[in-house]
Amino acid sequence: MKNIFKLLGLMIVVFSINMACSSDDSTTSTDDIDGSDDEVVTELHAAFAEFNTDAVTVMLSDDGTEIYIETTGFPNHTSIYWETDHALYIDEPTVTKTTQDTYIGGGTGEASSFTVDATPNLTGSTVATQLNTIGIAVSGAAIFNDQEGAGDLDQAAGSLDYNGAHKGPGVYHYHLEPRSISNDDDKLVGILLDGVFIYGRRDYPSNDYPTDLDASGGHFGPTPHNPDGEYHYHIINEEYNAPLYGYDEAIVLFAGPFQGY
Ligand SMILES: [Zn+2]
Ligand SMILES: [Zn+2]
Repeated sequence: MKNIFKLLGLMIVVFSINMACSSDDSTTSTDDIDGSDDEVVTELHAAFAEFNTDAVTVMLSDDGTEIYIETTGFPNHTSIYWETDHALYIDEPTVTKTTQDTYIGGGTGEASSFTVDATPNLTGSTVATQLNTIGIAVSGAAIFNDQEGAGDLDQAAGSLDYNGAHKGPGVYHYHLEPRSISNDDDKLVGILLDGVFIYGRRDYPSNDYPTDLDASGGHFGPTPHNPDGEYHYHIINEEYNAPLYGYDEAIVLFAGPFQGY
């Protein structure tokens, strides 16, 4: 029975591809067997053009309901966490590395892959973020929440580089606003695992700080990649008190909860 619905979904994808010449609408919807309205996407969201193609590969599933994201995990910007002979290595005197011998590409490596919904399920229910990767930044590196191990970021803040990122034994990851990607502006930062894109602290096109954000930093409105408007997150414009952080302002990237699962 389920296969029939999958087949129906595929037929609708093929149909809407044929219709694409005469219509700007790149989505259509089909009723799932469970009654939920799964939106079928026929082309990748324009925002994916911003991702670092040296690190990130993005593919749409055949049935148009999921997006497969693969990344090397290597960011395309400088950090103290590169090996000292790497072209992107910089010294950051105010940063105390998590462990002295850790570097991007060393140890367990960074490559990973994720499948996210092609269209977030904005049902109003929320899901808490977990330790570990909660999203992929446009640089190719991982996004983490505001927790380190079992606690908050306070003690770990001293090891964060100028992009608010560090690497222990696992992947190199951002906890704070990644200045190389977005620095108090409206730029795209990445996509979270619930399929919602996250942008910088300022809104598009006003360039003001949005005032209608929900608890996750999300709202519905235009983005640089969708002038018609869609639900998206912003980095919330609130300074995090982190005395050990080696740089001026610590702004948490995303604390959650997810709104799109
Ligand atoms: Zn961390
Ligand atoms: Zn916005």
